[in-house]
Amino acid sequence: GLEDLRRAVGKLLKRSGPYEALVKEYVRDVQRALIPADVNVRLVFELTRRIRERALQERPPPGVSRREWLVKITYEELVKLFGGDGEPEVKPRYTPYVIMMVGVQGSGKTTTVGKLAKFYRSMGYRVGVVAADTYRPGAYEQLRQLADRVGAMFYGEPGSKDAVGIARRGVEELRKRGAEIIIVDTAGRHGYGEEEALLEEMKNIAEAINPDEVMLVIDAAMGQKSYDLAKRFHEATPIGSIIVTKMDGTAKGGGALSAVAATGARIKFIGTGEDVDELEVFRPKRFVARILGMGDLESLLEKIERLQSVGEFEKTMEEMMAGKITFRTIYKQLHQMKKLGPFRKVLQMLPGFSAMLDSFDEAARVSEEKMKKWISIMDSMTFEELDNPELLEQRSRVRRLAIGAGVETSDVRELYNYYKTVKRMMKQLRKRKDILEKLSRLG
Ligand code: GDP
Ligand code: MG
Repeated sequence: GLEDLRRAVGKLLKRSGPYEALVKEYVRDVQRALIPADVNVRLVFELTRRIRERALQERPPPGVSRREWLVKITYEELVKLFGGDGEPEVKPRYTPYVIMMVGVQGSGKTTTVGKLAKFYRSMGYRVGVVAADTYRPGAYEQLRQLADRVGAMFYGEPGSKDAVGIARRGVEELRKRGAEIIIVDTAGRHGYGEEEALLEEMKNIAEAINPDEVMLVIDAAMGQKSYDLAKRFHEATPIGSIIVTKMDGTAKGGGALSAVAATGARIKFIGTGEDVDELEVFRPKRFVARILGMGDLESLLEKIERLQSVGEFEKTMEEMMAGKITFRTIYKQLHQMKKLGPFRKVLQMLPGFSAMLDSFDEAARVSEEKMKKWISIMDSMTFEELDNPELLEQRSRVRRLAIGAGVETSDVRELYNYYKTVKRMMKQLRKRKDILEKLSRLG
């Protein structure tokens, strides 16, 4: 099952040997984890093909091993498999907001109405629920008690068989009583495979109450069979979202989630237990991080990101040492510094530069505020000025740039002085680097 993914990653990071053989074995482990989780075989092979391709093509930044990079690739591809890196919007765009629940009997609709009511109550909304399941004996009582427990208003008509009428009157009544979110529970008495009848019923009630959102509840145990239902639902209603319940009770949860994601439908929540608290907003990134082992993965991803930025910065520094310094190089360097934080700290991370910190002191003191001003000055420059900083010896240009960027002429002169400092520094660095290289060749 999905929990085997973590083991596959752990094994990968421990093993040594030729990289291509490792990738091959790893990909097989990933397949062995996903197929028993009932993920569609075609999806599994597409996923592992992409992982293999990227693993063999991409070069990790310095400081990151190829195996670590492979874990990052896996993370990204799994996030895609489970719905991409967007976050579902669970806050209603306006109130009152009417949600209608649909789904086959036993999928967990009524339970989920209670969970949603609690969820929205805790966000501060006044919530009301409507018991429009007139088929199942005890459905009225089940929802009334849930509403009581979570502090939601309740509407129902015990004994009535008029589901459409109850839904309509319930929404109207609860709206009058000031409910901001109204959730309508329905029957959905059809079995698996009877998508058509289920969607037909949904249309009838929807016509009567005109919901703002229809939520389809799917039992995770349906696994990859969820695909057909989710697909037809997704095609039938533009205001639909999906809740996958009972993620706690089956090994097929991964199959259900990936199948639904493959239809393009939005999964908003997952149910993870019978209790009213056991509802989660579904965030593919977080879900995947949890499967792969949250703590380790997060620190790995952070490390990679940091090293990527430092790597870019190092490249800029090397370019600066090798080539001509212009405002274009200064511009690039300042932007990267903005991303990386204080110059001094960045330089400490670069082995070759840490020894020369003192000669950078002036540059290290560039403040956030100054940086912003300088960047806007450079945004006002002509190409000619960007390429030939010495043009700023002309006072008329300094004045024009100050006006263009909305700063003082002293700011422009300061930037020009910074350029001269960096140029001087780079000259020094080049000399020292030559010396260091000669020394290291001796040693
Ligand atoms: P409905 O017929 O669609 O309204 O389904 P119910 O809400 O009555 O739920 C059917 C059964 O599934 C009940 O026994 C619930 O306790 C159970 N159930 C619902 N959601 C979950 C869940 O997320 N996890 C588990 N383990 N059980 C659930
Ligand atoms: Mg029910």
